Amino acid sequence: MALLPQAIRAVASSLAKRSGTVIPIMYTAYIYLSCKGGEMPFVWDEQDGSISDNGIRYVLIRPDVLMGIAHELPSPDAARSLTALQASAFRRSRASFEQYRKEGRFNDSDLLAASLPMATYLGWGVWTFARTDSQSRVIEVRNSPFAAGYGASKTPVCAPIAGVLGAMALVASGTTVHVEELECSAQGFEVCRFRVTGSGK
Ligand SMILES: [Zn+2]
Repeated sequence: MALLPQAIRAVASSLAKRSGTVIPIMYTAYIYLSCKGGEMPFVWDEQDGSISDNGIRYVLIRPDVLMGIAHELPSPDAARSLTALQASAFRRSRASFEQYRKEGRFNDSDLLAASLPMATYLGWGVWTFARTDSQSRVIEVRNSPFAAGYGASKTPVCAPIAGVLGAMALVASGTTVHVEELECSAQGFEVCRFRVTGSGK
């Protein structure tokens, strides 16, 4: 799955800032046509102040702002905030993946594999399969924004990734899977390592 050419995006975005509506409209058309070509279909509407993907709204937020929620809470609530973040990521991204599947965006029979480049495109680090067997898959994430945003931790913190992996696997396989972050770069490991157990293939 090809990514949007960064140089063209940068030029179009720069032109959009310096023009009225013509260039942004052209830019939106470019994004639309890129989508048709199998690229990522995000629409950056600078008139409306929104970023969306077929009606699903997105926002750019600093990862330290998001993960800093845990640091603003006392200890028991901090841990619960990560659990809640994983649950929320699972629930909301599941709806997205189900929509993507209806749209036929994942022609590949392996939805989980087809989804990995999208995570990278969204700035969620570089996701790769480390190991696959009949019982589980291990997915490595290099450069997790959530670990970077949280800072040093004794326990794994990449709850949004665990939630999204669970949703991907559920939509791919139709069965609930268990996702565990085995090692996290916030703990000092080189990469974050997740194990998806069940039928998430
Ligand atoms: Zn992590």
